[in-house]
Amino acid sequence: MIVEYQHTLADEIHLSGVGLHTGCEANLTLSPAPANAGFSFSLADGSRIPATHQTVRSTVRCTTLGSPTAEINTVEHVLAALAGMGVDNAAISIDAEEVPIMDGSAKPFADAIAKTGLVEQRVPRRILELRSPFWVRDGDKLLVVVPAPHFKINFFVAFPEPVGNQFLETPEITPEYFLREIAPNRTFGFRAEVEALYSQGLALGGSLDNAVVIDRDGYMGKLRFPDEIVRHKALDLIGDFALLGMHPRCEVIALKSGHALHVAAVRELLAPYRPAAIAR
Ligand SMILES: [Zn+2]
Repeated sequence: MIVEYQHTLADEIHLSGVGLHTGCEANLTLSPAPANAGFSFSLADGSRIPATHQTVRSTVRCTTLGSPTAEINTVEHVLAALAGMGVDNAAISIDAEEVPIMDGSAKPFADAIAKTGLVEQRVPRRILELRSPFWVRDGDKLLVVVPAPHFKINFFVAFPEPVGNQFLETPEITPEYFLREIAPNRTFGFRAEVEALYSQGLALGGSLDNAVVIDRDGYMGKLRFPDEIVRHKALDLIGDFALLGMHPRCEVIALKSGHALHVAAVRELLAPYRPAAIAR
């Protein structure tokens, strides 16, 4: 059997931009981290927040992690880029309370990771294998996780027109597939909702440069993929599953799910009473 090893970044990556919800300018540095370190956020006040399900504070509109003294918002796209590109360990330093939204997708992060490259760490990758299926549900949102030889996603969304019903079935999510087919898909919002958020002092960094805005008559601006909305939902799921701290080997069937249900599935996968999940 071929042993898969852990990987970290070959060098530091520096990026900056505004936060979607706060509108604050932020500088972000992704740095190499030792084997078994996983992903963690270091904030300007010196606090360190490991990216695990235990530090999740909120899943409303974005995934927020927190420590007793600090919070970091919108972690899902940068975590998706790291996990999707095959990084196991990285330290993320940031001088604001929100990860910059960049162009609304994970592409700027994934492109930078691809350009910088990875180094192999001579420690076997932590892999989570599932022995039996389970599901988590919240009303009409459902997420089923079944054993599989590698990580793949089937995602179904149902939104008002013009989005309508969209379905995405991925093959194995390799770094090549992630970079080409998943990373470029942008976050989205309905125009009426976006305007309501804006009037409440939210989504302050949002614009047509970093989000797909959906109006009743159609999309405002050009789409990157005809099914960009469901592809972005898969991107969010990959980012939330990065909170496992392990490489998942399972197939996820997601019906209309979002951050809350994704995090619930991560908790379930790691629950001590679940002998079905084995880590090695
Ligand atoms: Zn997202």
